[in-house]
Amino acid sequence: MTSVILKPHKEDSLKRFHPWVFSGAIARVVLDASHKAAAPEEGELVAVYSAANEVLGVGHWQVGSIAVRILAFGVAELPAGFWNERIRAAYRVRESIGLISHTNDTFRLVHGEGDFLPGLIVDVYADTAVMQAHSVGMHVCRQIIAEAIIAEVPQVQNVYYKSDDTLPFKAPVEGDKTGWLITNHQLPITNSGNDFWSTENGLQFRIDWLRGQKTGFFIDQRENRALVERYANGKDVLNMFCYTGGFSLYALRGGAKTVDSVDVSQKAIDLVNINVARNFPNDPRHHAYAADAFDFLSEKITNHKSQITNYDLIILDPPAFAKHRDAVKNALRGYQRINAKAIEMIRPGGILFTFSCSQAVDKEAFRLAVFSAAAQVGRKVRILHQLHQPQDHPINIYHPEGEYLKGLVLYVE
Ligand code: SAH
Repeated sequence: MTSVILKPHKEDSLKRFHPWVFSGAIARVVLDASHKAAAPEEGELVAVYSAANEVLGVGHWQVGSIAVRILAFGVAELPAGFWNERIRAAYRVRESIGLISHTNDTFRLVHGEGDFLPGLIVDVYADTAVMQAHSVGMHVCRQIIAEAIIAEVPQVQNVYYKSDDTLPFKAPVEGDKTGWLITNHQLPITNSGNDFWSTENGLQFRIDWLRGQKTGFFIDQRENRALVERYANGKDVLNMFCYTGGFSLYALRGGAKTVDSVDVSQKAIDLVNINVARNFPNDPRHHAYAADAFDFLSEKITNHKSQITNYDLIILDPPAFAKHRDAVKNALRGYQRINAKAIEMIRPGGILFTFSCSQAVDKEAFRLAVFSAAAQVGRKVRILHQLHQPQDHPINIYHPEGEYLKGLVLYVE
């Protein structure tokens, strides 16, 4: 196996179980005899050693500033049964906290570094797991991982692989980036997408992993949706950036007076309508609009001279405004603008759920952006809750970079 030897004193973070080796920390690479090229192949397993020749761990080689993502610490090879052991451990957490039941068969099984599997995401929908590789190393191992999922997770019969958008852009990969890895149960796929349903807290959602965003659904808002349900009774609700309507369904079940769902994507709006019809047939309380968020809010504001429109509860769950560190400044301006609009238009005594899923924007920066929005509008605003990602998106304590979702629940007078 190829060996990676670090510069002196560069082993400290690995000894504290942080799973990344940056390229600048590497003194030299000793290739094994199988190599024709002068560098390791992207995705191959390499053993990492300190300058004093201590074994630090084994991981996947990558091209870029993160050169190795460690899979196992303190060993030079992956132990036998490694994949089954890691998948079993991930499943055990979800099962032991009571997340999986006949009313909830939708959960994230593997959350990358949070489950000690850097570069791997696995979401489970009823009997099907949808897997995404964010590294070539995980792509290379996709079949063995799929087999481990089938062996270790009783409810899963099928594994679909969807890595078109997640593998590094220029990486040379062999084999398909998308398609079934294992099917034990034939699934209905029609021209209009998957007719496939999964249950979250007793609500049914159509999951279209073929055409949908990410693996087809945003599992990370489950707990926050339940909080919206608690507060929705009797209220006029706006679910902005609704995607497949997660928050809308919970608000309807919570007794909302009306619910408006808004997303710029018509495909998303079609799915919201399908989901509402399945769970609340012929319910006149719900309306969905394909519209840009800023246009929708601005129009509502200018149509109402009082500057106060018809919502008591607003949810803002925009896409990641900052995908990279250098976009943070603009992202913060974006959060301030959209939150100012919502704070401006909500009824007195209204409740605003506002989120950021940009990993590059931390909790404090996001809170400051929302503070600036409140100050700009000049209304009295208090924080009722500080929200975050749920328990099936765990944060490895040695890898704080795994924290990405944050939210505030505000009471606006
Ligand atoms: N709240 C959703 C997830 C939101 S993902 C849930 O619980 O599942 C972000 C969504 O914002 C996407 O569906 C995307 O289509 C939508 N979006 C992106 N830009 C937008 C814009 N300018 N106006 C309205 N929606 C937008």
